[in-house]
Amino acid sequence: MPELGAHVSAAGGPQRAPERGQEIGCDCIQVFTRNQRSWKVKPITTEEATAFRQAREQYGIGAVMSHASYLINLASPDADKHTKSADALAAELERCHQLGIEYLNFHPGAHMQAGVDAGIETIAATLNTLCRNTPEKTDVRLVLENVAGQGSTVGADFRELAAILAQLEAPERFGVCIDTAHAFAAGYALHTVEGWEAMWQAFEEHMGMDRLVGLHLNDSRPGCGSRKDRHALIGRGAIGPEAFQRAVTDPRTRDLPQFLETPAGPAGWAEEIRWLRACSKGDTPALPEIEDQGINL
Ligand SMILES: [Zn+2]
Ligand SMILES: [Zn+2]
Repeated sequence: MPELGAHVSAAGGPQRAPERGQEIGCDCIQVFTRNQRSWKVKPITTEEATAFRQAREQYGIGAVMSHASYLINLASPDADKHTKSADALAAELERCHQLGIEYLNFHPGAHMQAGVDAGIETIAATLNTLCRNTPEKTDVRLVLENVAGQGSTVGADFRELAAILAQLEAPERFGVCIDTAHAFAAGYALHTVEGWEAMWQAFEEHMGMDRLVGLHLNDSRPGCGSRKDRHALIGRGAIGPEAFQRAVTDPRTRDLPQFLETPAGPAGWAEEIRWLRACSKGDTPALPEIEDQGINL
């Protein structure tokens, strides 16, 4: 059975997040350990780190994933922006290490005009430097997330993620998280049984299933292959409910932590988690009636 959860708010400090997760029935949670729209970050205090570990224990939260700032672009050809991004990811890793968060999820980056191969090389080189500088932080798994393929972003096609992994000096420190909405936008037709199969076959072929550490469960507003990143409520977008029933029952994915980033908001996530949990037990209940809160994570 999967651990099911959602991206919960860390307003007031990360130590506030586990309770918010428990309130809506999360087994696992995703958080931002910082304001993801600002470069300025205040450091984690020892008190905050202790409080976070205690809260996680107290509220029975399993896996915790941190989502890195959207400002980070590890493939930036601009020296200044690249340095800022590399430093910011290093700071994110330090925060996860302090808080005892085991997964740091990030988007590979956007090559701008430099080309996909140059982008892949820059991303891998940046990650290699990060790993060389942090040999003591192997408790945090660095997690590459697939993207929708908007603009010049790298990592929509699984072969691009595999190419990054192939250039890493410490590949054992890395995992991959698949966002269902992004995969669908990238052209993986996971709404059909055949497309779902083909997607995981591609994953297995290029990276091996043991790379997969979790899923972001999101339906998609735009259609398959749109390369646009717009999340929809589970079962209410162009993907539809069956793919999510497969996510929680397929032996390749059913034991992984799965995080909602849909526009449902906390009350709606509670309903979506309940629906997914029922599906994981083999039931097929009707989709919950919830309102789209217009949140875009
Ligand atoms: Zn993401
Ligand atoms: Zn997205």
